[in-house]
Amino acid sequence: MKLFSKEQIYEGDKLTAERQNITSTDLMERAGTQIFNWMHMRMQGAQVPIHVFCGIGNNGGDGLVLSRHLITHGYNVNTYIINCSDKRSKDFLINYDRIKNVTKKWPVLLNCAQDFPEIAPEDIIVDAVFGIGLNRPIDLWVKQLFIHFRKSKAFTLAIDIPSGLYPDQPVKDEDAVVWAGFTLSFASPKLVFFLPETAKFTVQWEVLDIGLDPEFLYTTETHVELIGKNEVLPNYVPREKYSHKGQFGHALIIGGSYGKIGAVTLASRATLTAGAGLVTAYMPKCGYHAIQASFPEAMVITDVDEEIISSISFDIDPTVIGFGIGAGTDTKTAKTFEAFLKTNKAPLVIDADGLNMLSKKKTLLKLLPKMTVLTPHPKELERLIGKWKDDFDKLDKVKAFTKKHQVIVVIKGANTITVFEDKSYINTTGNPGLSTAGSGDVLTGIIVGLISQGYSPLVATIIGVYLHGRSADIAVEDFGYQSLIASHVIEYLGEAFIDLFK
Ligand code: ADP
Ligand code: ADP
Ligand code: MG
Repeated sequence: MKLFSKEQIYEGDKLTAERQNITSTDLMERAGTQIFNWMHMRMQGAQVPIHVFCGIGNNGGDGLVLSRHLITHGYNVNTYIINCSDKRSKDFLINYDRIKNVTKKWPVLLNCAQDFPEIAPEDIIVDAVFGIGLNRPIDLWVKQLFIHFRKSKAFTLAIDIPSGLYPDQPVKDEDAVVWAGFTLSFASPKLVFFLPETAKFTVQWEVLDIGLDPEFLYTTETHVELIGKNEVLPNYVPREKYSHKGQFGHALIIGGSYGKIGAVTLASRATLTAGAGLVTAYMPKCGYHAIQASFPEAMVITDVDEEIISSISFDIDPTVIGFGIGAGTDTKTAKTFEAFLKTNKAPLVIDADGLNMLSKKKTLLKLLPKMTVLTPHPKELERLIGKWKDDFDKLDKVKAFTKKHQVIVVIKGANTITVFEDKSYINTTGNPGLSTAGSGDVLTGIIVGLISQGYSPLVATIIGVYLHGRSADIAVEDFGYQSLIASHVIEYLGEAFIDLFK
């Protein structure tokens, strides 16, 4: 799913009005009506008090349309206008007049905290105060109103975006934002629903269809894409009947050190489970027996060193190499990593200590093949790109980094984001059960396995992150969040593939 920017959304509204020969007021009518339909379907006329809080821009106008329909359908509605500016939008004013035609109970003007109505926990709040047009800090009394919403514990339904959230800026004061139980968005969900610092302001969201121009929807290029099954399935390559393992590549996983052989085992197993034809694990001698016994499908090459990697040398021609898991950052390992990078031609996926070694010596970044995949967790990312001020700053820094070094970066966490240059791909699968040792090693293995069988590094990364999360989502039904461990994510990977077709 595409995520439109604020400017694109305004453009889409304008194009829709032009091409369908309707006014912006008509489009507002559609928006408010769709919200009404959504509520009406669920409420079926229930007489729960509904408090609709409207700003004086177009978001407030949507709220007024909703109120009017709620009133004419006999709901128990109170409408309030947040009188925070005298710049009322044209369509707001039109709908302000229209609501007066259907009720004697005029909207109540709120000017200060003394005007706030009582809201019971069983009531419903509709937040139509600010939309994506918010562009400056809100007044203190409006912030107090948002705090009043929260204290009431009433279910809060936000229109388009929780008020107080900027579509393209970080939040400075969390009390100055509405905490919504549900947000009904137009055109597309907003980027802030998926960033760690702002995702909490809406528990759930849904996009309502307001009949925007199809050409605008289908042909507009966006910088951000949300990755779900619909995006993954068209990229999936089925296996042919006469295929043989030689077609799916020979992947090499290099990593491990004394006490961290399990990490390489997990990654290698994930690589093969993701569909690589062959996998070889390269590790220090101490890991040999353990991996051979626990993972018979793998081939193993050992380093000359007993406990660490000190001289990377192998006689195979790998299709792709995963490097760094459990490798440690001993100076000998770092030296051999540098020597390896100077001669390596195979596509690379670098994780964990591989990333830490790159962070310690940034000049090594020049040696990476184009489209190398880097999979840092938050700490590893910080070492790589430095501290960031907020989620937007982080995204900007990662974009610049990928552009400069021509690498793909996976920003791991809930809603993992894959970034390459100006494009960001936000994943929609995965759950807190993945906050467990080794789950990242499994992700690296999956991405390596996908590249091995022929997916481009970018597609392999996007699909790999999706399948990794989906596998965890299916596995969590059997194991629960606490008991899910990394091995389960490998075991359920097959279910995640099959689930693409369900
Ligand atoms: P739209 O831009 O579609 O009208 P909004 O309903 O979000 O969407 O518009 C908000 C309106 O409120 C705009 O007219 C804007 O100028 C104004 N506005 C923006 N920020 C604030 C603020 N902090 N306090 C009061 N009004 C604001
Ligand atoms: P390790 O190094 O132990 O293998 P990492 O920290 O490198 O683990 O990776 C953890 C993996 O789990 C990443 O893919 C990350 O996106 C995922 N993950 C962690 N916490 C969550 C969460 N709360 N929701 C979804 N995915 C998560
Ligand atoms: Mg890791």
